[in-house]
Amino acid sequence: MRKTLIASAIGAAITLSACSKPAEEATTTAAVEQTQTATPAAEQGAVSNPLLAKSTLQYEAPAFDQIKVEHYQPALEEGIKQQMAEILTIAGNTEPATFDNTIVAMEKSGELLNRASRVFYNMTGTISNPTIQQIQSEMAPKLAAHSDNINLNPQLFARVKSLYDTRATLGLDAEATRLVEDYYERFVRAGANLTEEQKTKIRALNEEQSTLTNNYQQNLMAMKDQIAVYVDTKEELAGLSEAEITAAAEGAKAKGKEGKFIIEITNTTRQPALASLENRELRKKIWEASANRGTSGETDNQPIVARLAQLRAERAALLGYNNWATYQLEPTMAKTPKAVMDMFASMVPAVIENTKKEAEAIQAMIKETGSDFELQPWDWEFYAEKVRKAKYDLDEAQVREYFEFERVLTDGMFYTMNKLFGITMKERPDLPVYHPDVKAYEVFDGDGSSIALFYADYFARDGKRGGAWMSSFVAQNKLLNQKPVVVNVMNIPKGPAGEPTLVSYDNVTTMFHEFGHAVHGLFSDVTYPTLAGTAVSRDFVEFPSTFQEDWAAHPDVIGNYAKHYKTGEAIPAELLAKIMKSRSFNQGFDTLEYMSAALLDMEWHALPADAPLQDVQKFEAEALKKHGVDLIAVPPRYKSTYFAHVFSGGYSASYYAYMWSEILAADAYAHVQNQGGLKLENGINFRKNILSIGNSKDPMEAYKAFRGQEPTTDALLIRRGLKTGIN
Ligand SMILES: [Zn+2]
Repeated sequence: MRKTLIASAIGAAITLSACSKPAEEATTTAAVEQTQTATPAAEQGAVSNPLLAKSTLQYEAPAFDQIKVEHYQPALEEGIKQQMAEILTIAGNTEPATFDNTIVAMEKSGELLNRASRVFYNMTGTISNPTIQQIQSEMAPKLAAHSDNINLNPQLFARVKSLYDTRATLGLDAEATRLVEDYYERFVRAGANLTEEQKTKIRALNEEQSTLTNNYQQNLMAMKDQIAVYVDTKEELAGLSEAEITAAAEGAKAKGKEGKFIIEITNTTRQPALASLENRELRKKIWEASANRGTSGETDNQPIVARLAQLRAERAALLGYNNWATYQLEPTMAKTPKAVMDMFASMVPAVIENTKKEAEAIQAMIKETGSDFELQPWDWEFYAEKVRKAKYDLDEAQVREYFEFERVLTDGMFYTMNKLFGITMKERPDLPVYHPDVKAYEVFDGDGSSIALFYADYFARDGKRGGAWMSSFVAQNKLLNQKPVVVNVMNIPKGPAGEPTLVSYDNVTTMFHEFGHAVHGLFSDVTYPTLAGTAVSRDFVEFPSTFQEDWAAHPDVIGNYAKHYKTGEAIPAELLAKIMKSRSFNQGFDTLEYMSAALLDMEWHALPADAPLQDVQKFEAEALKKHGVDLIAVPPRYKSTYFAHVFSGGYSASYYAYMWSEILAADAYAHVQNQGGLKLENGINFRKNILSIGNSKDPMEAYKAFRGQEPTTDALLIRRGLKTGIN
């Protein structure tokens, strides 16, 4: 999940990002009256373009049955125009600046742009096509310029600064004061204090960055088809289940290659099929298709990566920072790159030690099963699965039979949320959706009152970006009386036609994770749109989501939903015990591949502005070596050419945030277990102190209010099985 690239104040909530697991955030909205009378053209257009007017559906839910692809660009362009007019009015006001005529007025500006961009940038990730991609390409530089036109307006900044300087005397409440500070810092960080000459340079860099990140993302989309691996015979797929083979055949047929089988490449370096495919050559082929993607041809992302790293360093230098990482980390909980590097450095020895132990066990298994080759990355998961079976006698395919999608959703996830927060979910088939796979729900609070809408878009399909994320169609705020309309998106492979969908345990926890972001949006209870829901610091935003993951395995929860998809029998106690026990398995690998990617991200963004363009492959190898995480068999979870979080999402110099947030999540979860576990009282405390406040309070203060003290790393190390050594 991410905060929008463009500051929330300006309304353009670009939500195209990441959370391997992402969410998004930040918003603005505006006075409806203003927009609808803006220009005669807009009034006319409103008749045929549903985005031009506020939706009349419950909670302003998008009218997906009326919105057509040709509506986006005119709405976005008109939205930019309208907001710019509003901003110029605010900036040109001859009255002295007040909180209302400046800050609140900005909060209300950009209603149309906000509405249209929220819908549009959700569609770019979920139902993309060449037309949508074309609009994205055209709008990216225009939105970047629009953002600069606001953030670099000297009259506007002067008003914000005068309020900031006198904020203690304005009689503002705590939330309003924080909003003033947030605006001021955002303007300064965007370059408001620079000379005109420097501002011109910043503008050029911003436009270039927005074009490059957009090209990077579109290359990733475009290469998806090119890098898919096709197999001619069923025999080569030995190891996959019948259902997986059927899906591979259906997938190939859908691509016009009837008679063949397709293995699609998912977005991480490691690929799901590698855990079960017996054919080593095919494993190697799939792994190479994954790890080498974006390194050649028309979709070569290397030049983009090199230039992005350079231009971010240039941008940071203009703003007075040594590098992009220092700039990015300033407003976070971590605050400095050093704090992040210290966190990782303190963990590297234990992680490497555990990973090496895992590698030894795998190498021994390779021998035991009659081979003598040296462990390679495409072997890891295949033999790890054998070690897992030998050690825990746990068969992933057998486990999956107890995780039928509908049960996981209703009896697992919604059940947990009911026990913790008292909420109930009611299907709303009457609300329009943007794809037949999407379901809409209305969310009711414990007292029966309606509080929000939730859209569920769980299944993989063409045109959907990889990964999983949460974002909002409408963000909560009292200023404009708006209730949250939130969506979760995932890529769970659908079961074959007519069969139920069986979910991997990984995907089960991801469902809980994403719903953790969802409740952060759904329970938001603030006045100002800019501070709503998930619009928090990036190393805090993954805390509520990661906190929810562990409930999937909580005895009171798993017993309620893990039932055999055919017989309905509860998961046997013995199998359940094995799943619990095996949770720390392979944690060395999992942690190391994550840390390698995070360190790579930090290194790219530690480059000074005068560094030359880097050779991507060489830079990667050296960065990993420098931190002692260059194990051949354990490559980074993402390499630079497909690290969308960092090079097209909002996570540059921020991928570390998952682990930072996990420290909070593990500490919080352990605390809640000590307080009685799955019960309303605990959920209420979490909701009141963490989820409802958005960014209206300092995150560490909020945490202490919930927990009674600052977090420690103990629970994280135990959670990952690293404290006492793995296994
Ligand atoms: Zn997340």
